[in-house]
Amino acid sequence: SGLNEREREMVARRRRLLGPAYRLFYEHPVHLVRGEGAWLFDAEGNRFLDCYNNVASMGHAHPRVVEAIAKQSARINTHTRYLHDTVLDYAEALLATFPASLGHAMFTCTGSEANDLALRIARAHTGGEGIVVTSLSYHGVTSALAELSPSLGEGVPLGRHVETVAPPDAYRGGADMPARFAADITAAFARLRRHGIRPCALLVDTMFTSDGVFADPPGFLAQAAEAARAAGALFIADEVQPGFGRTGAMWGFQRHGVEPDMVTMGKPMGNGHPVAGLVIKPELLERFGGQARYFNTFGGNPVSAAAGLAVLQVLAEEGLAENAAKVGAHLRAGLNTLAARHEAIGDVRGAGLSVGLELVTDRATKEPATALTGRVVNALREKRVLISASGPAANILKIRPPLCLSAEQADMFIEALDQVLAG
Ligand code: PMP
Repeated sequence: SGLNEREREMVARRRRLLGPAYRLFYEHPVHLVRGEGAWLFDAEGNRFLDCYNNVASMGHAHPRVVEAIAKQSARINTHTRYLHDTVLDYAEALLATFPASLGHAMFTCTGSEANDLALRIARAHTGGEGIVVTSLSYHGVTSALAELSPSLGEGVPLGRHVETVAPPDAYRGGADMPARFAADITAAFARLRRHGIRPCALLVDTMFTSDGVFADPPGFLAQAAEAARAAGALFIADEVQPGFGRTGAMWGFQRHGVEPDMVTMGKPMGNGHPVAGLVIKPELLERFGGQARYFNTFGGNPVSAAAGLAVLQVLAEEGLAENAAKVGAHLRAGLNTLAARHEAIGDVRGAGLSVGLELVTDRATKEPATALTGRVVNALREKRVLISASGPAANILKIRPPLCLSAEQADMFIEALDQVLAG
């Protein structure tokens, strides 16, 4: 399958050392050793265009972030039980990007830990346990989050306190999607109540990335949050994927004109350094703060805080959210032009540089082109463009390049996709 001897050895070594639970991307795996901006380089010096990785959103190995990490590492790295300015400077800068109602920040190391903490806080505040998520969502690795991450598949059962709703799919759902989505949420919380489970939270990725990337119409999430609150639940926005400029705005929820009760974040927060956390309305934290002490050994350490602060500075100084809006619009326009030539392109959607492209076998029936999508992903890899697919039928290309992507690089992606679809 195109592997050289060294790569074959590495695959066998991984299997021997890491065991069977790890998966590689591609029939022909990629061995990356270096990155710069939206480019990645393999061990032989081949250059790949990264259209997939949403962690190094500021660009791979961004020198400002690398320097901030190195400088703080060379000085001291402790934890939040000693006084330190950096975590406070960071909390202040981070909170300044949110509506004033979200007044406290707490830090973790992964998005999963942030969601886990958010659920503990929500349970303490509401006294309920019932959670509503979308039917192909992913919220993390802990056992509590696996129970509410239906994208993990049937081998990982949902909790009894978890109800799912169909994703807000405007492509298949029609014009009444926003009202139906809100009504589904109301009905899901009602089902929980009938089983004696009090509502706790509606937890959604504000771009519905693993469900298939759903951004439109702007505002539909406000209606959904209203439905959750009417049921007595909190609205938690999982911004692990959409956050930090990806959608062309700082936060995905801004597109919908809604203020969440809590926001969880991670992935690009340290541009590759493991930093994550949440922001919350202070009044919601009172009960949890009274009951529990919170200490996360690595969460909010000075090195992580320095990385996070550097990311916020780079985002602002390089205008990366603005670039995501501009280049994202250029990319979607180009993909729509391709759609005129390739019948398989059923829908192009998204916001900023969070783009979904749905491949279908028939535009009228919208039958998912699952096999074709798999071929496209692997063929793009052979053209040295990295991408992946999601959605219930794995027929939706998930396009999420670093936010520094240029219009020329977007054109390279479009050109490669054009050739692959023609081939
Ligand atoms: N929420 C969402 C929406 C995610 O996409 C992910 C990671 N893919 C997580 C939470 C979990 O984050 P982590 O892998 O950092 O624990």
